[in-house]
Amino acid sequence: MSVQVLAIAAHRDDVELTCGGTLARAAALGQATGIIDLTKGEMGTRGTAELREREATRAAEILGLRERVNLGFPDAGIFNTNETRAALVREIRRLQPAVVLAPALSGRHPDHRITAELVRDACFLAGLAKYAPGSAAHRPKKVLHCLSYREDHVKPTFVVDVSDVFEKKMAAIQAYESQFAGAVQAGEVFPTTESLFDVIRHHAAHYGSLIRVRYGEPFLTFETMRVDDVAALQVSTF
Ligand SMILES: [Zn+2]
Repeated sequence: MSVQVLAIAAHRDDVELTCGGTLARAAALGQATGIIDLTKGEMGTRGTAELREREATRAAEILGLRERVNLGFPDAGIFNTNETRAALVREIRRLQPAVVLAPALSGRHPDHRITAELVRDACFLAGLAKYAPGSAAHRPKKVLHCLSYREDHVKPTFVVDVSDVFEKKMAAIQAYESQFAGAVQAGEVFPTTESLFDVIRHHAAHYGSLIRVRYGEPFLTFETMRVDDVAALQVSTF
């Protein structure tokens, strides 16, 4: 079963936090979507890996995913090696995504930073016919890096309008009750004096304001975006 949009992240709940709205929006547009979680979250301070699995399944239902896969890499021990690349290549070739959503290339958790590089490398290698022969080569057309919550001054290449599906994103995050009930910090979201869910909402409102909508999710690409009709460009200057 192939998917059009595939998000790959280190830990269950990373995708929901950084690009859950974009996946929900793709599903609303009729596109098949999926998530690959690289670890089972056994190093997490809260909850157990089993509980997080049930929560991840619930979140997948809320986001309308076609598929959610867990590769069982060691939590807090992800490395970009021949073995981890090969495992990811197998899944990329099986799911044949057109677009892959990856973590930001920097972050407070080393798993996030290393996963970003691992995902880019695996997407490239998956397209080499002679790499791991036995499954058909497939290279995603694009890799998009999620920029939500980043503090480094990287201007998003674009922001996805997730206003219509934002409450779905929040519900998918709230499915991780063991992680977030009463929590003030999650993933790359630093604590303030507000509830975690309010902080997430305010971040999304900021990104939305960059494209003059209520809620948005920001992304970075290294390749330049193409425009065919400058008169149809969105987002007003004034
Ligand atoms: Zn994480």
